[in-house]
Amino acid sequence: MMASNTITVYLLLGTNVGDRLSLLEQAVAYIGKEAGKILNTSAVYETAAWGNENQPDYLNQVLCVKTSLPPQQLLEKINAIEASLGRQRKTKWEPRPMDIDILLYGDQVIQTARLQVPHPLLPDRRFALVPLREIAPDLRHPVLHLTITDLLKNTSDPLTVKLHKTATK
Ligand code: ADP
Ligand code: MG
Repeated sequence: MMASNTITVYLLLGTNVGDRLSLLEQAVAYIGKEAGKILNTSAVYETAAWGNENQPDYLNQVLCVKTSLPPQQLLEKINAIEASLGRQRKTKWEPRPMDIDILLYGDQVIQTARLQVPHPLLPDRRFALVPLREIAPDLRHPVLHLTITDLLKNTSDPLTVKLHKTATK
């Protein structure tokens, strides 16, 4: 039998417009149907908008997904899912019904114009680190070689990340 080429990736979902919990559920359903098998989901956390104040608060959730899509195709797939959930791209860090970022793609390091993995802002975003630590505390950042737990200890992000809804497993 051929070995199937699957890789474990971590995705960050973010939403701050509309029925945020329903949008997260819809994104999880799309990802499970179109991007890969969902191995684990974090709880849902709430955080004030990062980088641009005067915006509604965000809900965030991290998913662990086993995918057979190469990185660029995974990015295209998640961009299509964002669009299906009503996202229109205008300016950076605007309010959005759904943002899906690739935090980690196995231990691969990707530096292209369209895609940087590990996500360059991961160490600076408590709203990404807190849900990621919940499901992968001992995972090591492939560039910084620190665990997620240690990245969270070291982050300078001052924003508070509040538990909003416990994970349903
Ligand atoms: P942000 O996620 O920083 O709030 P956007 O979602 O508007 O901003 O992302 C803008 C662009 O970032 C996307 O079109 C995509 O090409 C690029 N990008 C680079 N690296 C990544 C990544 N790891 N995950 C998702 N998008 C990425
Ligand atoms: Mg994004």
